[in-house]
Amino acid sequence: MRDYKFTVKDRFLKYVKYDTQSDEHSKTIPSTEKQLVLAKELLLELQQLGVESSMDEHGYVYARIKSNTEKNVPSIGFMAHIDTAPAVTGTNVRPIVHENYQGGNITLPKEGQIITTADNPTLHNLKGNDIITSDGSTLLGADDKAGVAAIMDAVNYLTTHSDVKHGDVMITFTIDEEIGAGLEGFDIKKFNAKYAYTLDGGDVGEIEFETFHAELVTIKIHGRHIHPGYAKDIMINSIRIATEFVEKLPKNTWCPEKTSGREGFVHVERIEGTEELSVIKIMVRDFDEKKVKEYEHRLKELIAASIFNHPGSKYEFEITKQYDNPKVIIDQHPKLMEYSIEAMKRIGIKPEVKPVRGGTDGCKLTFMGIPTPNLFCGEHSFHSRTEWVSVQEMQDAVRTIVEICKVWEEKS
Ligand SMILES: [Zn+2]
Repeated sequence: MRDYKFTVKDRFLKYVKYDTQSDEHSKTIPSTEKQLVLAKELLLELQQLGVESSMDEHGYVYARIKSNTEKNVPSIGFMAHIDTAPAVTGTNVRPIVHENYQGGNITLPKEGQIITTADNPTLHNLKGNDIITSDGSTLLGADDKAGVAAIMDAVNYLTTHSDVKHGDVMITFTIDEEIGAGLEGFDIKKFNAKYAYTLDGGDVGEIEFETFHAELVTIKIHGRHIHPGYAKDIMINSIRIATEFVEKLPKNTWCPEKTSGREGFVHVERIEGTEELSVIKIMVRDFDEKKVKEYEHRLKELIAASIFNHPGSKYEFEITKQYDNPKVIIDQHPKLMEYSIEAMKRIGIKPEVKPVRGGTDGCKLTFMGIPTPNLFCGEHSFHSRTEWVSVQEMQDAVRTIVEICKVWEEKS
């Protein structure tokens, strides 16, 4: 691909201007209409590239680049999500390209936002790269428009280089990944990949196939409300019980701000309450399912102890499974990892297999029957106003996708 004129940067700059924020409170699929606008644009671009493609009523885009080899190659899919996280606004994203980055912190013009090398040590290795950021007033949307742009550029390459041999290459762009509803209504038959890769990761070389076991614990605490002027010995304030309970949780272990690497965590993500009812939502995460159960057992003990001090109150304890660790399945298909590692080595990228401290659509897809690890695409500091990507890292992602297609063909 030495002389190839990459299109990934221009595509990325275009896609981030589409506001595709998903909404966790919505009951529709997609959760927000605006995701459909970018989905339609991607469909149009795929059609312009001459690729067989379609979009369903939910906004999932499916495409297939037909095999151009005699060999019997399994169909390989590539997937990225078009929505951006609800936490920070994605309206009116104004991307800034910092060409030929020369090191040091990057100060954004709005809201005093600074991308520091202390928080982003990867920047130390990226002198001379072109870094793209927002202006500080919005997120950038690199998560996962870097993945979308990289896949689209790889499609562009494959459809204009017929000398590059590959089997069926299946493409899909998905909705609502960020609100955990990802893949609802997804048509796995239409996607029709035997194996797939999501493009939704960070540093160059990263390959992730191991994620947390993830569960959500919802604790409801019932108190008793009465006019505060006449409440003596009658009122039971559920808010007080809730805060007592949270206060009992370990402060130097368990929580996300004190754990890293292969450690799991228990994270209180939301409390809502009145005197009568308080609801606490707690994310429970670990690479080991047994540990998840241990955390939950301990949470139950702690809430029971808090309730005990307030006679007349009661609690409900509910566990919702969010996603599973796909490692158990991907381990049974060693080629999937081997070929992506081989592809990276061939183009001079050092592969780094890492556990991911979060879920991607790839884990859901794996449990739906298509084993799917996650590959880097250069997202950094995602879900924040200081989100950034490097153009050169996105180009590496494009090269990786193309090379993976070649390796699968060659080894089949
Ligand atoms: Zn993502």
